[in-house]
Parts: sequence; C-alpha cells; structure tokens
Amino acid sequence: METKGIIIQDPKHPRDEELYEAARILREGGLVAFPTETVYGLGGNALDDRASGKIYAAKGRPSDNPLIAHISTLEELGPLVREIPESAKKLAKAYWPGPLTMVFPKSSQIPYSTTGGLDTVAVRMPSDPVASRLIHLAGVPVAAPSANTSGRPSPTTAAHVWQDMKGRIDMIVDGGPVGIGLESTIVDVSGAVPVLLRPGAITQEMLKELLGELQIDPAVLGPVEKGVRPKAPGMKYKHYAPRGELVLIQLKEETRAQLGKKGSPLYSQTLRRMTDSGKCFGLDLESFYLACQVNQAAEEKERAGASVGVICTDETIEEYGIAIKRSMGTRGSEASLAHNLYRVLREFDDLGVDYIYSESFSDTNLGRAVMNRLSKAAGYHVQMV
Ligand code: AMP
Ligand code: MG
Repeated sequence: METKGIIIQDPKHPRDEELYEAARILREGGLVAFPTETVYGLGGNALDDRASGKIYAAKGRPSDNPLIAHISTLEELGPLVREIPESAKKLAKAYWPGPLTMVFPKSSQIPYSTTGGLDTVAVRMPSDPVASRLIHLAGVPVAAPSANTSGRPSPTTAAHVWQDMKGRIDMIVDGGPVGIGLESTIVDVSGAVPVLLRPGAITQEMLKELLGELQIDPAVLGPVEKGVRPKAPGMKYKHYAPRGELVLIQLKEETRAQLGKKGSPLYSQTLRRMTDSGKCFGLDLESFYLACQVNQAAEEKERAGASVGVICTDETIEEYGIAIKRSMGTRGSEASLAHNLYRVLREFDDLGVDYIYSESFSDTNLGRAVMNRLSKAAGYHVQMV
C-alpha cells in the first residue's frame, strides 16, 4: 500500500482543507496516523470492526489489547457508553480536552474488536488542534492507539511514524513534534471507586485532589505477576522496548542516607570528586554520584567489547566518558524528561547499541509516568547501587 503524507502548515491552527482527505479516509474505514498532545496516534473508525482489525494488523498488536476511542466534543461520549458516573463528569470538566483517558461500561455501538473483547470502552478527548479537528471532520469516534509497531517506543514525531508505518497505512498527517511525549493517563470510572490504570501527564496528585478517593492498579507500581490479568491489558506487555538491553541504575536508600550525611566518608569522597571534576556545576550530590555509577557500569560493559549507550541529563552529560550518550532533559523539568524519553530510546535503536544504561529519576508528579515507562522499557531490570 502506498502511504500518503501531508504536512500541516500551522499545527496550532490547521485548516479544514488540509484535513478533508484524512477525514474521508477515516470515515470510509481506512487508517490515518495523526499527532495528539501525548504521542502520534494510528486512527481508524472505532465503530467499524474491520477498521479496528486493520489497526491491529498494521501495529502487529495482540488483539486482546484494547483501543482508545477519541472524540472531539462531550456530546459524542453519550452514545459510546452505558452511563457517565459523577466522577467522570468531574474529570471531564477539569481535564477534557486533554491527556486523560477514562474507561466506561461500553454501549452496543462499540464493537468488541475495538475493546479487545471487554465490556468497557476507553475514551479520550484530545486537546491537540489537529487531532480534534480531524476527529470532528471524520464525524465518527476514532480508535487510535500509538502509531508504533507493537513493542517499539511510541512515536513523538511524524518521522518516527514513517519508520514504523510506511506502506502499512493510508496516510500520515505531520503536525510536528508532540507536546507531552508520553501516553495519556488512564482512569477506570466504571466501578464504585475510580482506579488509576496508567500514569501520565494528569498526575496521581491531580486526580486525588479532584476526586478524593482513587485506587492505584498494581500494574502502575511494578511488574505484573505471571497469570495476573491487569485491568489495563496493555500494561502486561513489555511495551516501549528499545532493541538494546536497557538497565536502570538506582540509588539504594542506604546510599542516599550516606550522601545526605555531611561528614560521612561517601559524602566527603563524592563532594571531592565533584569539585575536582568541575563539570557538574549546580548538580546535587545524589545525581552526581548516580552519574558516576552509571558511567562505571557502562565503561565496564564497553571494556568487555559491547557497544554501550547511556541515558543522562543536561546536568550530568559532561561527566560521562562514554561516547554514546543522550540527555533526556533537565532534572529541573519532569516535562522535559517526558518529552524526550521515546525519541532517545529510538535514537539508541538507530545506533544499534547492545546495552543502554540509564540514570533514574524521581517518581513524583509527571516523574511517575516517566519512571513507569522507563522501567517497563527496561523490563524492570534495575541495578541498585
Ligand atoms: P495505546 O492506545 O497504545 O496508548 O494503548 C491503549 C491502552 O489503553 C491499552 O493497552 C490498555 O492498557 C488501555 N485500555 C484501553 N481500553 C481499555 C479498557 N476498556 N479497559 C482497560 N484498559 C483499557
Ligand atoms: Mg501504545
């Protein structure tokens, strides 16, 4: 199949003429990739089970991994769901349009092929102007998982989508790089108490403040045990995986305590080393120590003959002796880390490294979503130092 490309001149203000053909393709059962504020989506008509089938085929996605239906106004929600609970009304008022997906009991309009056989349907109203206008013009809810081959990092630029989807879908709409860079937060509102199924830019703290009560699905916190079916089926897969073996390096509590104690041998030694290095101006002791440990692990692997890359930050990049290093952003901005994570993982794929050693980050606010994706990408391979 030939994949057509279209570039939106001003992605903040797309013109309808630029989107008519993409909208027609969606309405007629074809597949169109388009930008959203989270990652690029691979869209098809959510009411058409042949379109859903094509999405699973194009992505190589297991068919029990359900799709999110995207809408452009609140009125489009009613026909897709059996009820809209109070918690959902509150959430929609506060965070729609935006990077929040809600799981509802599904209506009979939504085919089981879209929901992976579940009696619930996940719905989101994106805020990205291209996504929103395209869905409106298509006139149907648009099922749109991330536009990557299943198992690869989600695409945050149109170039990433071309890498994975060229020849497999009808059209790619290029609206420039996405804003957030991580998939939406998912909250299940179908039960008595809302449950966080996947962390994202609408953080646990924000949800708790609005809802009061919020349960956290165990799959958000760590690996899913064999045989357990998580409520968000996608969380059981080793998603977001780069081709090289990714290892996350994290500080032990004990190490943190030592580094926090003025006058302890580790404190003095690390401070001396940091002063001598002179390259890490403004860096805290913990981050400096972590970077030294990541560098050491990477250098050891490199000496053994492997090709190795490191994931670091703007503050620590100068400290590394390793040649292949990529900064994910600054520790001062969790948004910058979220924005760059998938791009960096894809760059390591392109470079063909065997191993990637990564610094770890704080898991508060948006950092929780960053660490969730990074841990999954590493298959929960964490080395404590
Ligand atoms: P993606 O569109 O690639 O970001 O992935 C969508 C994810 O949303 C799936 O992998 C599921 O984990 C989750 N999801 C979609 N529909 C449902 C549903 N009905 N119930 C629970 N989780 C869902
Ligand atoms: Mg995905």
